[in-house]
Amino acid sequence: MDTKALHQITYGLYVVASRREDALNAQIANTVFQITSEPPAIAVGINRANLTHEFIVASGLFVASVLPQDTPLAVIGHFGFRSGRKSEKFQGTDYRLSPAGVPYLPASLAYLEAKVTRALEAGTHTVFVGEVSQMELVQPGVPLTYAHYHQMKRGAVPKAAPLPPAPVEQAKPGRWVCKQCTYIYDPEKGDPEGGVPAGTPFTALPGNWVCPVCGASKDAFAPED
Ligand code: FE
Repeated sequence: MDTKALHQITYGLYVVASRREDALNAQIANTVFQITSEPPAIAVGINRANLTHEFIVASGLFVASVLPQDTPLAVIGHFGFRSGRKSEKFQGTDYRLSPAGVPYLPASLAYLEAKVTRALEAGTHTVFVGEVSQMELVQPGVPLTYAHYHQMKRGAVPKAAPLPPAPVEQAKPGRWVCKQCTYIYDPEKGDPEGGVPAGTPFTALPGNWVCPVCGASKDAFAPED
């Protein structure tokens, strides 16, 4: 078997949120899809170890925010690589509440609120099927795909480039890879959002520099092969 066959399946990228009483949480998920149109229903696959999973089980609610293609990597890192068990993810984050009181991002293209009708246990994950109870377009734009996100992390496409993405780049000397999230630090580009000018070697980064995607420290990085 060649597991790379799985990489040929296409996905979008979403912030999936839920709540447990007044507590809010959300995570990144690529497995959101429409399952029926009459009535409109969507499904999402969520890891059973995640706090969002607990919240969906508790409230029977989830909301998917559809991310735009120009979503900053830091936003995906904030929701995707940090656990809501350690910090309140919506503190200091711009959000609005759906009619059922579940947060969505005003920077998203659309949100869909669903009430869980079925939950299918599938190994490490649960597939939640939910009837859509509210959905709205938030703003126009191009939805982010999972493939485009991976190209952005590799520095192969600029952050707001149109599709299709550039071919995958060859490994270059001096680039370091975050072992936690696969973000690549490229000294030719530096980390302008983190105050690091282009031309700064990885080894010259300050000791308190962290991965702009997942917040890992320098020692989580290894030279790119
Ligand atoms: Fe990282």
